[in-house]
Order: sequence, then structure tokens, then C-alpha cells
Amino acid sequence: MSATRSPHGQAADTALSLQRIGHEQLLDIVDLNESGVVYADAHGAVLYINRSLKRMFLIDDSWHHQLTLSSFEAQLCSMLDPQETVRLPMTAMLDQLALSDVELTQRLFSVIKFVLPRPTVIQISASVTARGGLVFYFRDTTVEFEVDRMKSEFLATAAHELRTPLASIFGFTELLIARVMAPERQRELLQTIHRQSRLLVNLINELLDLSRIESRQGKDFHRQQCSVENIVKNAIRGLLVKGDKRQVTTSLSHGQLRIMVDPDKTIQALLNVLVNAFKYSPQGGAIVLDTLVRDEDGEREVGVRVTDQGIGMSPEHVARVFERFFRVDPSGKIPGTGLGMSLVKEITELQDGWVQVQSELGQGTSVTLWFPLASDFLLSRPFMPNED
Ligand code: ADP
Repeated sequence: MSATRSPHGQAADTALSLQRIGHEQLLDIVDLNESGVVYADAHGAVLYINRSLKRMFLIDDSWHHQLTLSSFEAQLCSMLDPQETVRLPMTAMLDQLALSDVELTQRLFSVIKFVLPRPTVIQISASVTARGGLVFYFRDTTVEFEVDRMKSEFLATAAHELRTPLASIFGFTELLIARVMAPERQRELLQTIHRQSRLLVNLINELLDLSRIESRQGKDFHRQQCSVENIVKNAIRGLLVKGDKRQVTTSLSHGQLRIMVDPDKTIQALLNVLVNAFKYSPQGGAIVLDTLVRDEDGEREVGVRVTDQGIGMSPEHVARVFERFFRVDPSGKIPGTGLGMSLVKEITELQDGWVQVQSELGQGTSVTLWFPLASDFLLSRPFMPNED
């Protein structure tokens, strides 16, 4: 590729060179950089700390005027996580520089955890400049680190949840193969195997649903104006098969209101809430489905609320109800995967709604799916039908 030339014969890429900007502008650029930057000369005198780094560690004048790299390192050391085993690289780099042992390349150091001024995970790297100075870069990787940690935790929990039913299927089939046993005992074991397989299938289906919904971020939702009544009736129809003795008492005062949702996904969410209401009411009790409206800062919302008189939850458990695999009672007495409420939350929030859970231990629970009214929603996003 040939370089284009300006009328003065200079290569056009001069526009990209730093000669055209002044010292102040250069400092502005470094200051606006999200990474923290500290520059020290070859004798270890800190000559410059950019604004991001000052913000990151709340560096002010109390850090001395004539800061050296070793006192800077000592200040940072006092903010490290006490569990941190990785050493800060400032003085080590300076020593290596004195021994002319450092190549003119950027060096990456491991991520380092700080507890002050707030818990952060910072990746530090360093470069030696052509004039023999040292530049250290501090990149805040707290969010990436947390996402990685959550992913590993999720994988470990998912693997554990899959292994538990599989282990019992494996164990019981081995028993059936190895031993001759009475038909009743055999039937009992087969029933357990069947129950555990069903749990596995549900678990995998819900995991797949969750990951699909999450990765598509609602792009495969076919949102349309639906009446609340229609969603509710279909959810109840999906729950109560013909001849079912269970009952849901409905009171749809706002049933005619319309919401902008994917009907299938929303019915699935409401169905999960209804299933829970029955599951966690082992002693029975009325299950009531009613509708409410609220007005928050001029935004009108309609709520579909399912109330049971079941076992309820403590406030600590309510706070964790949307966590993946969270179950108040993991013993399996009441079957479940701990993924249902995560799905309900994903589906509702991807459609601009939110889920409210109110519960009292031993008294019962009510779960409300709130959605903006379709008319308000369309007014706030007039081009919605053409999106995608
Ligand atoms: P699960 O498949 O275990 O029902 P969910 O994600 O739907 O998973 O719910 C998570 C946990 O929240 C349940 O295991 C249960 O402990 C609690 N929970 C959910 N709904 C109710 C309810 N209506 N009453 C009491 N506890 C509930």
C-alpha cells in the first residue's frame, strides 16, 4: 500500500505523529486515559501521575511532593489485600533498569488485589521509555475478574447439580444389574431413577433456556400487544390439565390492559411462578392470581400477582431467590432445579419489566411480574416495531 503525499511532499501520516500537538494536549490525552499512568525517571523519581491513577488510589498531596518509586510502592503496599502474594513491581523494575537488564518492551504483571480505597483488581504493566524512564500502567480489571469468578462458580455449581442426580441413577442401575431383588424393591429403585432422570432433563432444559435467552438478549422475543387477561388465561390453561383438582382464584380487574411482550415467553414465566405457588404450598391453601396497577414517575405499570399461603421464605432467602441453583431446601423433598426464578427474572426484565417478591416465613409468598403498559411503552419507543 503506497503512502499518500500532501502538497508539501510530506507523508500524509504526519497527521498521526505527535509533533503536531503540544505538551499540554499530550498531558490531556494521558489524563483522559482510563488506565492509571505513573512516570518515573531512571533514578526512580516519580515525575508524573495521571488523573485516573490519582482517582484510583485517592492520591493527593499527602503523598509527598517529591515522590520516589520506592515510597510510591510502599504507599500502594499499605492498600494491598492482606492475602495478596504477588509483589508490586516498581522497585524491582528500577533495580533491573540499573543493571541494564530490562528490554525496551512492555512487561505485563499479574493482576494484583487491593482492598483500599475500595476492593479492586488491578493489572499492572510497565514499559521502559527510549530515554530510560519507567512508565507503569494500572488497568482496573475488577469487573472482568468478577465475571470470570462468577463464570467459574456457575460452572462448578452446574456440574455439581448435574452430577448429583446422575450419581444416583448410576448407583441404582448398578444395583439393579448386580442384584436379584423383589419386584416391589425393583420398582422403587426404578421410580427413583425415573425421578432423577426427570430432574436432569428439567435441569438441562432450563439451563439451555437460560443461556439462549441470555445470549440472544431478547432478540428472538416476538413482542406484540397482548392483553393481560390473555396471558393469564393461557398460563392457567398450561398449568391445570383437564380434571386437575387444583384451583387458581383469579381476580382480573385490569385484565383488559395491554402489555408489549412475547406471549409464549411471558406465559412461560407466569407458569413458573404458578408452579412454585403450588409446589411450595404442600399443605394446600388458596392460590390467588390478581392484577394491580401502579404509576411510578408518570410510567404506568400493570402487575400480575400470584399469592400463595405456603411455606414462605425468610428475608435472607427472598434476597437470594433469583440466584442460579439457589434452593431454600436443597434436600430434594420438593423437586426443583433452582433455575425457575432466574428464568422468570430474565424474561421479565428483557421485556422492560421487573419482578417483585414478597414473602413471610410460614405465611406465604406473593410474586408480581410488573410490565409497562403497551401504550406508554410505545410512546417512549415509537420505532420499536422496526427494530432488530
Ligand atoms: P425451584 O426449581 O427450586 O423451584 P426456583 O428458581 O423457581 O427453583 O426457586 C428458587 C427457590 O426459591 C425455591 O427452591 C424455593 O426455595 C424458593 N421459592 C420460590 N418460590 C417460592 C414460593 N412461592 N414459596 C416459597 N418458596 C419459594
